Amino acid sequence: MIQSKNRQWRLASRPTGMVEDANFQWVEEPIPTLDADGQVLVRVLYVSIDPTQRGWMARDSYLPAVRIGDVMRSFAVGEVVDSRHPDFAKGDVVRGMFGWQDYCVADATRPGAVSKVPPGVPIPLVMSALGMTGLTAYFGLLDVGRPREGETVVVSGAAGATGSVVGQIAKIKGCRAIGIAGGADKCAWVVREAGFDACIDYKSENVQARLGELCPEGIDIYFDNVGGDILDAALARLAMRGRVVLCGAISQYNAEGVPPGPKNYLNLLGKRGRMEGFIILDYLPRAAEGTKELAAWVMAGKIKDRVDVQEGLENAPSALRRLFSGENVGKQLVKIA
Ligand code: NDP
Repeated sequence: MIQSKNRQWRLASRPTGMVEDANFQWVEEPIPTLDADGQVLVRVLYVSIDPTQRGWMARDSYLPAVRIGDVMRSFAVGEVVDSRHPDFAKGDVVRGMFGWQDYCVADATRPGAVSKVPPGVPIPLVMSALGMTGLTAYFGLLDVGRPREGETVVVSGAAGATGSVVGQIAKIKGCRAIGIAGGADKCAWVVREAGFDACIDYKSENVQARLGELCPEGIDIYFDNVGGDILDAALARLAMRGRVVLCGAISQYNAEGVPPGPKNYLNLLGKRGRMEGFIILDYLPRAAEGTKELAAWVMAGKIKDRVDVQEGLENAPSALRRLFSGENVGKQLVKIA
């Protein structure tokens, strides 16, 4: 449906604990118009829902916090409906940080602010395996983790947008892939559809004990999406020269105060291990390289993409909560037009 107003979710307060609807304010404004050369007006079609948005709401980190009163920051894909930039025309499908709103005036002269989506590629795919989370899996595993054939790769959040792709790339590279996910249904999908060798249900199994059984020679790469006790269990099972890729720590994002440090970090010392964090934004200059290879794997059926599309801008805050309750299966998106 085409909106006659610009509906927006603006940040009203900083969350404590789980994100609540009251942290946002629903605003309806006239559709904005272009007032400078280089701008494009984008009608937003899908917004991306990401765990990192919880952090953006709360504090400065690798990006400044969203200011109170600003439109909630979000990756998005939309259609150009007006343009004062020579490279963009009405009807172009584009991606950028357009926020939780129906219409966004974007400055297309800023490098990377607006980029075209190749025609014919389904938008959900562009926002999942071929989008930010696919690239996170790609560069996090290959550049930071540096897998070698025959190694054992363990990934938490294995049924999620990033983790599911990590395990599938690990398999493509000739590794054993062990997932950790919440619930029998997710674990079954991880093994049967995504092709992991095994998946541990952290909600009903003893992760430490199962890692011992499934990784008798230890873990060569642990790709961490969740932090907390699961990170500790993986650290305890590290193989000689093991690598821990710090991608995220969703189990800690709603906690108040400073999270406790990992108890088993000294195992890095004994095992001559390496633990390294990364932020995908640093890899954006190399995005084309990653996207090209990911697209070839998707086309060849070697990577299965899974998206979870909720409908309606009004449901963006509840969609964000789904990431923390684990209700999402695959990449969480909200379709708004
Ligand atoms: P997902 O699609 O993986 O969704 C989040 C999942 O986290 C949920 O489905 C849930 O799965 C799991 N989860 C939630 N709470 C807990 C908990 N307390 N303990 C264990 N698991 C939990 O999201 P993304 O793929 O977008 O993000 C995955 C991780 O990657 C996040 O930590 C995110 O911040 C990080 N990330 C980092 C980037 C970077 O540049 N470093 C870029 C993009 C993402 P389940 O049902 O299995 O519990």
